[in-house]
Amino acid sequence: AKKNGRNNYQFYMESLNRAATERFSMERDLNKALENEEFVLFYQPQVDLASRRIVGAEALIRWIHPLKGMIAPDTFIPIAEESGQIIDINRWVLQAACNQKRDWLHAGLKAIRVAVNLSGYKLSSQNIIGTIKEALGKDSADYQNLELEITENVLMQETRETLSTLKQIKALKLRIALDDFGTGYSSLSYLTSFPVDVIKIDRSFVMGCITEPKNLIIIKAIIAMGHSMDKRIVAEGIETEEQFSLMKALDCDEGQGYFFKHPVPAADFAEFLAKEKL
Ligand code: C2E
Ligand code: CA
Ligand code: CA
Ligand code: CA
Repeated sequence: AKKNGRNNYQFYMESLNRAATERFSMERDLNKALENEEFVLFYQPQVDLASRRIVGAEALIRWIHPLKGMIAPDTFIPIAEESGQIIDINRWVLQAACNQKRDWLHAGLKAIRVAVNLSGYKLSSQNIIGTIKEALGKDSADYQNLELEITENVLMQETRETLSTLKQIKALKLRIALDDFGTGYSSLSYLTSFPVDVIKIDRSFVMGCITEPKNLIIIKAIIAMGHSMDKRIVAEGIETEEQFSLMKALDCDEGQGYFFKHPVPAADFAEFLAKEKL
């Protein structure tokens, strides 16, 4: 038994080491990724449920690693948040999304909103305002078409500074969306304390909305409360016709999900847009 115990311990130490090494190599590769522009943005349509027309796009980052191929954001964003590399990634994403939006407009496609995910890590110390102004450049009339998606954990940190940053973002006329709504703590108080325009109902509620009465109760409550506060409600993760019909019947404003479209490269997204009349 003693021998076995030592083996377990060794095994444990080895796997700890392996995890640390992997993390370290990912951090190093992330630095190169920024230098070599290995990131791309995919776009997923945000659809007006009543008309089924595209009204927006959420930009979702992918990392095209030279050896490992495409890496999903859930794998590297948390590491970038811890290392601080997220600041440079956020700047890259904002710039790339704004350039894309401008290109679509110049190509004669209909004007839509573009939503960008901003990770939590010390939002107030990222000079986000400077980055936004730089990214949007002279397109000042277009500030209202840029939406920033933040999660509740952003609001949980250093509240005073975060509130002031969000107020400055609002002063520029950008829209702020609260992502993954309903999954964090004290969601309700955040809605009254922070200048939020859009509520994105988390996919976990939408997924079970047909089969789980509990989810339906929560969704109804979010929509009623959100609308009474004049907020736009977006349902994430609509995968079936049934879910779409239900969310529409519940008067949810917009939806996103595989039922409409998967996230796609910018060129494919432009094709969807071109098919819609102006
Ligand atoms: P999120 O912001 O909640 O993004 C929605 C995620 O759900 C995306 O995964 C999207 O591909 C996926 N999705 C969309 N429709 C459906 C559906 O109908 N069913 C299911 N099962 N999934 C659906 P993705 O692209 O892998 O992104 C994962 C997360 O990574 C995002 O969650 C966001 O938190 C983060 N992320 C993505 N792009 C960025 C970025 O540019 N910057 C930062 N900081 N974070 C990002
Ligand atoms: Ca999002
Ligand atoms: Ca989300
Ligand atoms: Ca998420």
